[in-house]
Amino acid sequence: PMSLSDPVKPHRICVCVRKRPLNKKELAKKEIDVVTIPGNGALLLHEPKQKVDLTKYLENQTFHFDYSFDEDSTNDLLYRFTAKPLVKTIFEGGMATCFAYGQTGSGKTHTMGGDFSGKSQNSSKGIYALAAQDVFTLLMQKRYADMDLCPYVTFFEIYNGKVFDLLNKKAKLRVLEDEKQQVNVVGLQEVPVSSVDDVIKMIERGSACRTSGQTFANASSSRSHAVLQVILRRRNFLHGKFSLVDLAGNERGTDVSNNDRHTIVETAEINRSLLALKECIRSLGQNSEHIPFRMSKLTQVLRDSFIGENSRTCMIAMISPGMSSCEYTLNTLRYANSMV
Ligand code: ADP
Ligand code: MG
Repeated sequence: PMSLSDPVKPHRICVCVRKRPLNKKELAKKEIDVVTIPGNGALLLHEPKQKVDLTKYLENQTFHFDYSFDEDSTNDLLYRFTAKPLVKTIFEGGMATCFAYGQTGSGKTHTMGGDFSGKSQNSSKGIYALAAQDVFTLLMQKRYADMDLCPYVTFFEIYNGKVFDLLNKKAKLRVLEDEKQQVNVVGLQEVPVSSVDDVIKMIERGSACRTSGQTFANASSSRSHAVLQVILRRRNFLHGKFSLVDLAGNERGTDVSNNDRHTIVETAEINRSLLALKECIRSLGQNSEHIPFRMSKLTQVLRDSFIGENSRTCMIAMISPGMSSCEYTLNTLRYANSMV
């Protein structure tokens, strides 16, 4: 009998950080880089508990995560340590979830979606495409090929507590929960896919839908959560599900007086859902019976990812390195740190 167990130590929750490089604008403004990650990418293999130094002008602070990725790390490297170990989970009948968390501009979409600007020659693939590739590689392997698994893709956005289908012109969808607490997003398009290219087409379609043709007031992609799911069905029954979540920016409306009512409501909803997410992941990590998934639409929709013996989660916290982002960076590190 073959073992399906992961060669890497299978922790249920993996929390890591990724620092992006200073961009041209920041360099032009002579922004100071306040984040140091000791060691290089190659060390990550042997040293799971890496350190992050946050050299604030007041004090130095060190945080510990499962992995820390510096500004030279590629999407490929990141993928190998974060989402890749979770792909097998869905073939084994489990639920896998990978979150990108951080302030707007910190690299969430870069990490998840990569660059789909049409120049496919030199575009760098993100976790979406890399995961899709591995799903299809495994589907071809004999042990899984015999299982009669059919892959599907969904792609939706949660904005202000409401669900919109990115594969169906941002149709607004209802979320229903039955008496067994099964959560159902009514009418969500589940598109059958037969190749990596099919998945990439859906990613492109959904991403374009996300950033253009807004059907609701004042919404930009940074204020919504985007969820891409790769679903495996076996004779129409759900077998496994991989949810890849590009979260809304975690920056708070610190200067409330400057914001209109709409923005304040929007910000409150984002804060609520990110808090709910933190609580759910912590409960999962503590093997708690009670997962407070009803605290927000985001966690409600992801409910089946938080239950079951075989669910695994990865949280990637993105940080901007500049001094002017220091306050947000500290918030992000504290958030991620609370799950370790
Ligand atoms: P977010 O989705 O968190 O708002 P983005 O992913 O859109 O942030 O990133 C903001 C900008 O920074 C984009 O132009 C993106 O290409 C760039 N960027 C982000 N992370 C990296 C990285 N690790 N390396 C190079 N460029 C990056
Ligand atoms: Mg983004």
